[in-house]
Amino acid sequence: MHQPKQPREPASCDTQAHQLLSMDAALEQLLGSLPHIQATEQVPLSEALGRVSAEGISASLDIPGYANSAMDGYLLRAEDTHQGSTELTITQRIAAGSVGQPIKPGTAARIFTGAPIAPGGDAVIMQEECEVAGDQLRISRAAKPGENIRPQGNDVKAGTLLIPPGTRLAPQHLAVIASVGQASVSVYRRCRAAILYTGDELVEPGQPLTEGKIYNSNRYALEGLLKTMGCELTVVQHVADNFAATRTALLDAAAQADLIVSSGGVSVGGEDHVKPALEAVGTLNLWRIAMKPGKPLAYGRIGDAVFLGLPGNPVAVFVTFLLFVRPTILTLLNVPEVSPRSFPVTAGFQWNKRSVRREFIRVRLETQDNRAVAKSFNRQGSDVNSALIWASGLVEIPENSTIQPGDMVTYYAFNELLGAI
Ligand code: AMP
Ligand code: MG
Repeated sequence: MHQPKQPREPASCDTQAHQLLSMDAALEQLLGSLPHIQATEQVPLSEALGRVSAEGISASLDIPGYANSAMDGYLLRAEDTHQGSTELTITQRIAAGSVGQPIKPGTAARIFTGAPIAPGGDAVIMQEECEVAGDQLRISRAAKPGENIRPQGNDVKAGTLLIPPGTRLAPQHLAVIASVGQASVSVYRRCRAAILYTGDELVEPGQPLTEGKIYNSNRYALEGLLKTMGCELTVVQHVADNFAATRTALLDAAAQADLIVSSGGVSVGGEDHVKPALEAVGTLNLWRIAMKPGKPLAYGRIGDAVFLGLPGNPVAVFVTFLLFVRPTILTLLNVPEVSPRSFPVTAGFQWNKRSVRREFIRVRLETQDNRAVAKSFNRQGSDVNSALIWASGLVEIPENSTIQPGDMVTYYAFNELLGAI
């Protein structure tokens, strides 16, 4: 990456850094001023996927609760075996779910994975290493005490904190909670979200498209994104491009939601009514953020509700959702770590356009010579919705930087951003 001290391009609206708030400063202001949902509910494990734990979950017992076999094989006393061949008499069969008798000297037990180790037995020889004729077992090496035995507490020791509060519960969390015998879990109530999509040009899919109109795509992006984040959608509403309609919609939504997310109408054009309407019913911070896409982003409050006004361009909606709305929802839900995880990959593209704005470009990760290489989509406009299907994630181009093929760049995977944890 190449970062000169001074940007070399002549000043354009894009290079007037002093008027733009850095993305980091905007996120800090936003996340530091959010309220937190306090209400909790107890839900059965089967309904807890994606919810956020409201209390720490500790193991009340050792898992496994008893030493058991890691293999299908034969349980014996290691001291009965020696180098070369040993013969033992098979006197019992211990299946998972049953309990065996003590292993007497000179004997062995047929045993199966997960079955408890009977007293006296201290080694399991996997069946592939055994020769069996009737009740006679022959093994051709000395057994090591403890081999193929999972000790009590091997997975989890009683008293261990398994899951801290503020954890988004993924399938693996539910499995661990189940493994210690807990049937339900205390979680924060869901975040109630409202979607307002502004624009007189919008027509719903399925309806005829008349001149000058476009199909409403942001609604479906936002519905999917908010559902992925586990939100309950309490309002999904079209808002006409006028002050009165915008004002009414904001008030209605604020009464029904913890978080209002709008698309469009947030710039400073003559048809952008979100800013004045929000100022009329609540408080507004309209930011011009040094990021691309997503420069205009409005953050405000209406009563107890948090308002985030996203730009109208579809790619800007998606990107600002992932970078601003997602951490907002996680913070409302008391999740402590809200920054999207990223990792370094190799640039498989060239980027010569220096900008004072941090750019997030649509890329697809490919593997070349055992390296993860990011290829960039050939049209990076914020109106190019289809790029989001082609892409597997975003690459961050730092402020005032160019990228050469082979440089290391920061990659945010969509599946990471949209995933359960
Ligand atoms: P605005 O910020 O309202 O000026 O919108 C910016 C651009 O995004 C315009 O081209 C709009 O037509 C487009 N746009 C706004 N809302 C939507 C939507 N719900 N679906 C698709 N495109 C939209
Ligand atoms: Mg508009």
